Amino acid sequence: MADKTVLVVEDEANIVDILAFNLEREGYRVLSAYDGQAGLALAREKKPDLILLDLMLPGLNGFEVCKALRDDGDTVPILILTAREEEADKVRGLELGADDYITKPFSIRELMARVKSNIRRGDMPPRSDDRQGLRLGRIRLDSAAAACYKDDLPVDLSQREFELISFLCANPDTVFSREELMEHVWNYGGYVGDVRGVDVAVRRLREKLEDDPANPKFVMTRRGLGYYFNSQHS
Ligand code: CA
Repeated sequence: MADKTVLVVEDEANIVDILAFNLEREGYRVLSAYDGQAGLALAREKKPDLILLDLMLPGLNGFEVCKALRDDGDTVPILILTAREEEADKVRGLELGADDYITKPFSIRELMARVKSNIRRGDMPPRSDDRQGLRLGRIRLDSAAAACYKDDLPVDLSQREFELISFLCANPDTVFSREELMEHVWNYGGYVGDVRGVDVAVRRLREKLEDDPANPKFVMTRRGLGYYFNSQHS
C-alpha cells in the first residue's frame, strides 16, 4: 500500500478524522477536503489513487465533483459515501461514473476492504513486454493500456467498465449472473447483497459501446440469468 494516496471529501470533521486515522494506519497517505470545491481542486492537483466522496457537501455536491472529474477524463476510483435512506443517490452516483458506494454508518472493516479492492484495480501496471491484446469481431481490447476499441476507434471507458468488458470478452458467449460479475469484476467474494451496481455498469457500458444501446449487439442480456458478450455480432 506504500505511496498510495486517498482523498477524503467529507464535511463532517469527525468522519474525516476516523477515516484518516484508519487509512493512515493501513499505510495510505491521506488528503482531506471539507467541501466540494476544495475536493475537486485537490483531486485535480494531487491525482490521488482513490477518492472517498461524500454526496451531501457544501458548495459543489458529490455528484457534481464526480461528474466534473469524469468530464475531465479522470478515471480515478471513486467511492461515494451515502446515507442508508438515500437509495436513489447510489444509483445516480454510479450513473455519474462512481465506481462503488458505501452506506453510512459504515463499518471501518468493510470500508477498508472496499478501498483496498478499488485501489488494487487501479494498480495494474502496464507490462510493455506482454501486451495482451484480444480481438472479438469489431471489439478490440488492449489490457496493457486498459484501452477498448470499436471498429479500431477508442471507446472511452471507466476502469470498472473496462474490467467488465474485459471479463466478458475473456469468456465470450458465457452467461454470468450479476452475483458472479460482482464477485469477478468487483472482487467481492461471496457477494449476495445489492447487485444493482452491475446493471448500472452494463447500462453505461452499452451507452458507450453499442451502436444502439436500446438494442445491444455486444453486451447481451440473457433474461433471468445475467449478461454475456456476444462474439457473433456483426
Ligand atoms: Ca455531508
